[in-house]
Amino acid sequence: MDSRSDCCLQDGAGQEGRGADAARFEVVLINPYELGRQPFALAEPAAWLKQDGFDVRCLDLSLQQLEAQALAGAQLVAIYVGMHTATRIAVEALPRIRALAPRAELCVYGLYAPMNQEMLRSLGVKTILGGECEPGLLRLAQRLRAGESCETQSEPVGHLAKIDFLTPDRSGLPALARYAHLLLPDGGKKRLGFIEASRGCKHLCRHCPVVPVYQGKFRVVPLAVVMADIAQQVEAGAAHISFGDPDFFNGTTHAMKVLATMHAKYPDLSFDATIKIQHLIAHADLLPALKAAGCLFITAAVESVDDQVLQYLAKNHTRADFERALQLCCDAGIGMAPTFVPFTPWTSLEGYVELLRSLLRLKLVQAVPPIQLCIRLLVPAGSWLLQLPGFRERLAPFDAKLLGYPWRHADARVDVLQQALQALAAQGEQAGLARSEIFTQIWQRAHAALGLAPPPLAPADFGEPIAHLSEPWYCCAEPTEQQLQSF
Ligand code: SF4
Repeated sequence: MDSRSDCCLQDGAGQEGRGADAARFEVVLINPYELGRQPFALAEPAAWLKQDGFDVRCLDLSLQQLEAQALAGAQLVAIYVGMHTATRIAVEALPRIRALAPRAELCVYGLYAPMNQEMLRSLGVKTILGGECEPGLLRLAQRLRAGESCETQSEPVGHLAKIDFLTPDRSGLPALARYAHLLLPDGGKKRLGFIEASRGCKHLCRHCPVVPVYQGKFRVVPLAVVMADIAQQVEAGAAHISFGDPDFFNGTTHAMKVLATMHAKYPDLSFDATIKIQHLIAHADLLPALKAAGCLFITAAVESVDDQVLQYLAKNHTRADFERALQLCCDAGIGMAPTFVPFTPWTSLEGYVELLRSLLRLKLVQAVPPIQLCIRLLVPAGSWLLQLPGFRERLAPFDAKLLGYPWRHADARVDVLQQALQALAAQGEQAGLARSEIFTQIWQRAHAALGLAPPPLAPADFGEPIAHLSEPWYCCAEPTEQQLQSF
């Protein structure tokens, strides 16, 4: 027995549902980072591959390290890149993965794979999969197992056709208890489950990484599969479900069926979801039902309080809409956690201070993680922002290290402020400062950038804390050095 099969027996994977081909074939699925959530995007392909007899190992680099024992026998390594940070970590990790799995073919899949395909192929990745990736990943593994050459990719890079979801197999992932958890305003904690009830999005916001891949389409995970996934995470101790759908209200009928079924079966389970401003207003009548089903807070991608910037981003909402949606959530007794892209080529120093003033006026300081006040617009390859007339001219050539088109603000003080605030927020979070304390430092620094004395702030200005996750949600932030070295 060679060390490879020894490894597989220890893992116990792939013993059931073995397909016709009896030869062992090892697939390693790697998640570089997914905001502290136990990744559906590893558990779903793991189910597909195991059902067909593959031996599957999962490695989550946010909690585990790349190890020779796990990778030495791999014949296929597939790395999931669902966000910019994960892609940066994957690129850094690729040489080590290649060294530890010298016999393996490499595949990169997920939202950021197709848009970075040229660069990934230059690093030796033969297969790139985006959209509904599971059929392509299974087909690739089957072709390799059958001894076919995979020099040329035959699976579609972007697959959007509906697929037959299986119950995700989470057995090979680190325990739920090791992932992010829910923090309650009273200091309590809840174990977190992570569910995707749909993928893709029917909207076309210009800066959004979902758009180049899904192009206005979304795909629903059947109710039975969602419920089976919730059940296995409740069994593992989850007391709160975080729905990771890009927008939970893309299909309200499906969303409300999921909630009704979940609440009937687990009345004590709470949840959060991401819902866009436009949907919160259009479906305001559903908010009381969300609250009744256990909704603690809604993440809403507000992005800006400047209507002109919102138009550039094609958000289809205005600042007034944001305030209206906030009021609707408040009336329903649901917290709102707005997210922002405060630093764009159109941001002025005055506009930035106006954002801070708005958060104070709306009593939202406690609801906004400080990282949200430092995020700089990222323009990845394939971004629909490149279609905005005159925008491309503002950008430097594509930077393969940054995985995007760098830009400089016409007012150098804006870039200086963004850098300073990013460092300040990171230091504040590391030191365990409260959101209000970090906000106060940001407030002072932003006024100093304008040469103004900062008006004093009082605790009452900050609003009430809301429930939130121990790792904040963001889409496009620069990875830290620690993340880039973690594997
Ligand atoms: S930002 Fe949100 S609503 Fe807009 S396209 Fe992306 S996921 Fe959809």
